[in-house]
Amino acid sequence: MQPAPAVFRFAPSPNGELHLGHAYSVLVNHRMAREAGGEFLLRIEDIDQARCTREYERQIEDDLTFLGVDWDVAPRRQSEHFADYAAALEALADAELIYPGFMSRGEIRAFAQRYEDDEGTRWPRDPDGAPLYPALDRDLSSRQRERKMRDGERFAWRLDTAKAVAMLGTLTFAETGLAPEAGGGEVVAKPLEWGDVVLGRMETPTSYHLSVVVDDAVQGVTHVVRGRDLFPATSIHRLLQALLGLPVPRYHHHELILGPDGRKLSKSAGDTAIRALREAGLGAEDIRRMVGLPAAPPAGSLSRESSARG
Ligand code: GLU
Repeated sequence: MQPAPAVFRFAPSPNGELHLGHAYSVLVNHRMAREAGGEFLLRIEDIDQARCTREYERQIEDDLTFLGVDWDVAPRRQSEHFADYAAALEALADAELIYPGFMSRGEIRAFAQRYEDDEGTRWPRDPDGAPLYPALDRDLSSRQRERKMRDGERFAWRLDTAKAVAMLGTLTFAETGLAPEAGGGEVVAKPLEWGDVVLGRMETPTSYHLSVVVDDAVQGVTHVVRGRDLFPATSIHRLLQALLGLPVPRYHHHELILGPDGRKLSKSAGDTAIRALREAGLGAEDIRRMVGLPAAPPAGSLSRESSARG
């Protein structure tokens, strides 16, 4: 029997143009997939329907083709699979692992500020620098919750992270991108650093964290290759995989391509956008050189003869 193929994926959000950072990420990812004789999938992470557009999606596919990246099956578009995420959210609700959090982002910030003014110590921040959810309403009775919801108060479904961690104990994942001295190897997940993250919203029954773990499982992803900025989020992903009984891919978090100011490139990166570089007459080889990658292997030398999944 043939061993199951390795499955890699690139998962951009169509809320802006791809830039040099994406080019580096997808080229490393695609190359690793082809060298492993694996499949390479494209997933369109468009749950934020207010910011994602089909126009950006088309442009992403066009830029990838220009870069020489191909994918093996039709892209999975997250906005077409809300029922999958809703089912996962429901399973977590049945296990009493999520609760409605009624504080808005502004209220959380104001709470942290008040705490810092009163106590003279810093309110804890998550790895992205946002104040942790105060979780005051984690302890509301079900009657109080229902009343607030009936009164139309806005809320988001939040994970009771401490409860989940107490249930599951220590979890680890394999990290091949970062050297052991930089935190790689078999990594112990630290989901408590994130506090009670949002897993669903009133209008959208999911969040980035929830849909990414559901989709990696649905698509049979075995290798997640992405930027180092998402390394801390892997701790939450690992916890959700354990809660939902999903398989755990291997992770490879690569270095980021930084702008001249030493900061991460953003979606509004202007002249680092692949589109702008193409319009300025640069070719795929120029882009490879700009992100420090060697010339592309000769056409066909690494591509799969046929796709196992069609
Ligand atoms: N959609 C995410 C982004 O564009 C990437 C998610 C992932 O690779 O896990 O940053």
